[in-house]
Amino acid sequence: MNRSTKLGTSRRTFLTKGALGVGATAVVGIASPDEASAQRVTKWDRSADVVIAGAGASGLCAAIMAREQGASVIVVEQNHDIGGHAMVSGGRIPLGGGTRLQKKFGVIDSADQVYLDHTDFHNLELRYSDRELVRVWADENAATFDFLLDNGVQFEEVMPTLVNEGTVPRLFRTKVYSDDLKVTINGSPGSGLVRALEKSARAKGVEILLRHSLTRIVRENGSRVTGITATIDNKQVNVEARRGFIIATGGFTSNVAYRRMFDPRLTEEYQVAGEPWSKQNADGEMLAMAIGAVLWGTSNVASEHGRSVTKTRHIGARYGYENLRWNPGSPMFPLVGGAGLTVKSYQDLICVNQFGKRFWNELDDTYGYLNACLGRHDPDAKSRKLNGGGPIWAIFDADAVRREEWDPTPPNVDPNGWFFTADTIQELARKIANPYQLAPMPARALEETVTKYNAYVDAGKDAEFGRPGLMFKVQIPPFHAAWATPILHDALAGLRTNGRCEVLDIRGQVIPGLYCAGESAGGFALHGLPRVTVFGRIAGREAARSRT
Ligand SMILES: Cc1cc2nc3c(=O)[nH]c(=O)nc-3n(C[C@H](O)[C@H](O)[C@H](O)COP(=O)(O)OP(=O)(O)OC[C@H]3O[C@@H](n4cnc5c(N)ncnc54)[C@H](O)[C@@H]3O)c2cc1C
Repeated sequence: MNRSTKLGTSRRTFLTKGALGVGATAVVGIASPDEASAQRVTKWDRSADVVIAGAGASGLCAAIMAREQGASVIVVEQNHDIGGHAMVSGGRIPLGGGTRLQKKFGVIDSADQVYLDHTDFHNLELRYSDRELVRVWADENAATFDFLLDNGVQFEEVMPTLVNEGTVPRLFRTKVYSDDLKVTINGSPGSGLVRALEKSARAKGVEILLRHSLTRIVRENGSRVTGITATIDNKQVNVEARRGFIIATGGFTSNVAYRRMFDPRLTEEYQVAGEPWSKQNADGEMLAMAIGAVLWGTSNVASEHGRSVTKTRHIGARYGYENLRWNPGSPMFPLVGGAGLTVKSYQDLICVNQFGKRFWNELDDTYGYLNACLGRHDPDAKSRKLNGGGPIWAIFDADAVRREEWDPTPPNVDPNGWFFTADTIQELARKIANPYQLAPMPARALEETVTKYNAYVDAGKDAEFGRPGLMFKVQIPPFHAAWATPILHDALAGLRTNGRCEVLDIRGQVIPGLYCAGESAGGFALHGLPRVTVFGRIAGREAARSRT
């Protein structure tokens, strides 16, 4: 049996175990390239001026803006609720250029300064951006922030702060929408963005079709995009887009085959921030490519800048993204499984690979550590047909639990494959099992690792990896192994668009009627909400203004 067959079966069993059927994004097959292109639709079931796939941050901005231009709007959303990744986001939105809130706090800013800050070649994260996109984005910063205010988004009114890309304070944070976890999903500030936008969109007459998955983009005879097919409960609904169709499906991080185009190391074991609430399956990108679209800025994914891969902060549970600790009261929690133990200091633990060996200085927060996780294989790996780096496990003892003030029991940890406890190190190694741990961890190897590390603590020097300030031995039972494998976050490449958010083909020609915004769009590797809200708004406006 080859590796993928074996993983495929066991992983499916694993993923569905305990599933409630809430929140999980429906897995619907999308059309193959041949099916998707040149399809004639004989009957449209629904029709609107502007049709949008995805009711996340970019899709909702697009919908409101298109409606404000007088267009009728239908949004198809795959999930059972709106919000996408933005719902569980931190709601930090650094937009500048002279927004109303900046002015209120006496901050002087301009579109030109925003542009300069985001085209500074010292900024490696943004060095390879498409300047047309950055210029348009800078020019629309202030208007977009004020648009959010006008559509009911509330921000914490404190002096804005600087973020990496800026020389001027621009960062404001949205307020959590309500106390009700059924409404906010996790109580994250990002709920204040998307719930407010949803309310405004609905009030303005936007129609949102939930549980409808985009499965086809209709481009007749290689000319204009005229509509889409959405699928609900295996039924197909053809929706005509009289003026334009906007892809706002939010990137590709959840799609293993697709993400490996950019970095072949990103195999199955890497979990994704924002899941299991919302998936980014690259549906929009794949369907657009099937009708001639191309990608843009693809090197950004593997540039080792920005947050495409992140170090885990919450360990012992499946989803340990640093800025999202799942709330046990969340309606999603049965699918999440565990909130995770928040690591105050990696000084309190060691990290080992699936062979039970340390591989790097655990205190390192750079891509050095991440690269070592993703691909630093010891010679044992050759015989095991590995491709990605495999699971990373944090190993620690009872003393570390005391120092970190952890309670290593559910719901903080998830004992179903993500957290293990034993009285001896060898027993601990033998217990570690989940579908990503392809073979049992060699018990003797883990014991040797711990013994060696404890000797380094005695000697005051990490002879292997130069970890500074070695202080604590791993020696007091019970011993623990907690899932600490890096988490994927941003989709930093996507479809090629111009400054009007029109999607381009391989010749640089506009595909008429097709627009894209959000993480599905490429060419500008800026993290998160500032990029997706600005381009969502532009896409909505431009699609609404387009005439066939
Ligand atoms: C935990 C977390 C914290 C974050 N914190 C911040 C922050 O503080 N500041 C910041 O700037 N950024 C933050 N981000 C990033 C930010 O949330 C995202 O960049 C942003 O939400 C992306 O917007 P989007 O519209 O492209 O995608 P999303 O908001 O993910 O929306 C995409 C929508 O499309 C839907 N969809 C997907 N496929 C289909 C299909 N085939 N048919 C129909 N619908 C489909 C999805 O269900 C989803 O609702 C955070 C992200 C996460 C996960």
